[in-house]
Amino acid sequence: MPPIDHFLNRRNNVRLSPSAITLYQSCQRKFYYVYIKKAELKPRPALVRGSISHKVLESFFDYVNLVDLKEGDWEKLRKDFRKVLFTLLESEWKLIGSEYPDCFASEREKGELLEETKRFLDFYSAKLAYSVTDKLCELNKNSEWFEDDLKRFFYPKDRELRIDLAELNFSGVIDKTMSLFGKGIAIVDYKTSRCSLPHFIPEDHIKQGKAYAYLWKQHFNELPKHVSFYYMRTGESVYYPISEADVEEIQADIDEIRSKDTDSISDFPKNVTKMCGYCDFKGLCFKGGKVPNGNTIESN
Ligand code: SF4
Repeated sequence: MPPIDHFLNRRNNVRLSPSAITLYQSCQRKFYYVYIKKAELKPRPALVRGSISHKVLESFFDYVNLVDLKEGDWEKLRKDFRKVLFTLLESEWKLIGSEYPDCFASEREKGELLEETKRFLDFYSAKLAYSVTDKLCELNKNSEWFEDDLKRFFYPKDRELRIDLAELNFSGVIDKTMSLFGKGIAIVDYKTSRCSLPHFIPEDHIKQGKAYAYLWKQHFNELPKHVSFYYMRTGESVYYPISEADVEEIQADIDEIRSKDTDSISDFPKNVTKMCGYCDFKGLCFKGGKVPNGNTIESN
């Protein structure tokens, strides 16, 4: 628990999460609309695809048998992994329109996104199959710990783990955690979004990762060793080592948000960037004026 003085300057008890902290960092005005005014964001195809991909990766491990892993046949593992992933993807994709909003501009766009997602998952199956085969070369099959070590290497410690810090009104869902063979745990965050540079973690992803580490530390009183971001598009895993300073940074963010008057919009300034052109709230922020992407918003 944070010290008592963290609660003394509270002016609000807005429900917070790692996504809320990230949004606050990117634009406080948008945070105000979404988390205080509870304005709904328009569903977007990329977000629907992101939710489906997360669900597929969460369920995948239920369908992989340890016996098959032990065989260590790379080609076979890859085929089996791909089959499971594609089957899960197709059944989840059918839920668009019921469980997931159908916000695609056309059937063509929807089909293209499905094919692209299959490519991501195909790459994931190859990468995972190779990493298992490689690990098997290192493990001693005659050791009494062989199965345990293989399990620990392959299967997540947690999947879609929800942590609720009731006193802080802060909660979040961690995609996956992995045990680091007696050296703590790693938090894994799947990303389907584009990354501007190779082997690079954008600032907002790092902030979100720190917020997951904060949740973990508050709940288990243990610092995760690192947060690893898996970029599905490129198959890259990039990790960020976590320190106490990162957790303190998130505590400072929470304290700052809690010190704001939620009845005063001016407590949440706009952050005007070219991204405003894509924001659901540009009509409110630039009424009668020009949005940074060049469009003019009508006064009425
Ligand atoms: S339009 Fe720009 S300033 Fe306004 S809420 Fe969106 S991102 Fe923030």
